[in-house]
Amino acid sequence: MAGIWIYSEDTIIAQQIITLGRELAGKMQQPVCALTMVEQDAQTLIAAGADKVIVLKGDNAWPESYAAAVAGQAAQQQPTVLFVGATLRGKDLAAKIAATLKTGLITDAQKVQFVDGALETERMLYGGLAVCTEVLNGMNVITIPPRAYDVPPQDPSRSGEVVAVDVQTESTMAVGNVCPIVRKGADIAVAEKLVCIGRGLAKQEDMQLAQDLATAIGAEMCCTRSVAEDYHWMPVEAYVGLSGQKVKPIIYLSMGVSGQIQHVAGIRDSKLIVAIDTNENAPIFAAADYGIVGDLYQVVPLLTEAIKNKA
Ligand SMILES: Cc1cc2nc3c(=O)[nH]c(=O)nc-3n(C[C@H](O)[C@H](O)[C@H](O)COP(=O)(O)OP(=O)(O)OC[C@H]3O[C@@H](n4cnc5c(N)ncnc54)[C@H](O)[C@@H]3O)c2cc1C
Repeated sequence: MAGIWIYSEDTIIAQQIITLGRELAGKMQQPVCALTMVEQDAQTLIAAGADKVIVLKGDNAWPESYAAAVAGQAAQQQPTVLFVGATLRGKDLAAKIAATLKTGLITDAQKVQFVDGALETERMLYGGLAVCTEVLNGMNVITIPPRAYDVPPQDPSRSGEVVAVDVQTESTMAVGNVCPIVRKGADIAVAEKLVCIGRGLAKQEDMQLAQDLATAIGAEMCCTRSVAEDYHWMPVEAYVGLSGQKVKPIIYLSMGVSGQIQHVAGIRDSKLIVAIDTNENAPIFAAADYGIVGDLYQVVPLLTEAIKNKA
């Protein structure tokens, strides 16, 4: 077996997965090997903890065109496991690699451990209602969501092997134009403080209440899917949850958010959850560290005032 393999076309995510790779490397007695299509990234990956970097040199800029190439390398070198960053492109690539290798594919693993000589993964099922634990046998492809692990510190004194391999890429797709997504607000996925609004707000103008509180505590605003997709009060990249953004703030404060399972799936990693809702049976209170049962129109201005007075 030839190690713990890691690939993401996003170098930051690749480094996050190297953190996992290093956690497992000692226990599994396996080296950490990163794959990249960008030769200049090799030293960054080594400084982050890779023992070896395989640079795939093909004539195509699109990662998903490298599925056969990665599968071919894996078939030759037999890694113990291949971790792929769960970006849209990564998911596409991972599925193709697993299908080519006729091996298992575990998607969006939240946790990976080495227990009793086998890899064990945990991932959410049924929209976050259950956690599924799988014990793996043989080589598998596992996708890891962005930010599941921290980026390790760079250690420029680390050395590692860099191997460049010429590979064939698939070119069934022709890309005519690429338009970057223009983000309309802050990146809530990395925000340290978040104020989240839900359908408990009666009118769009009332968002100012939430904005005032957000300003007082230095938070970014986010919302539920209903607010973004039904009301169109905020852009879709501002909604949190299973089909929205997964957030990891130090504090997440919601108002008028019922806390349906698909929403809570996106806030589980928040350090502190505070919820304001009129319905004492709202599911958000089961997820919250602190709950205020009350009308947001009364509670939020008082809270904002109290915070401002304390500052
Ligand atoms: C496949 C699928 C994927 C989904 N993915 C997501 C996702 O990623 N993210 C997401 O958010 N949703 C998602 N949803 C939708 C989700 O199921 C809920 O419908 C949605 O999160 C509800 O949004 P809400 O809390 O704003 O509204 P509601 O559920 O209507 O809750 C409003 C809350 O406001 C409270 N309230 C009313 N007035 C006041 C007041 N004056 N003061 C205080 N509280 C008040 C009510 O008591 C209630 O709890 C998904 C659904 C499906 C089927």
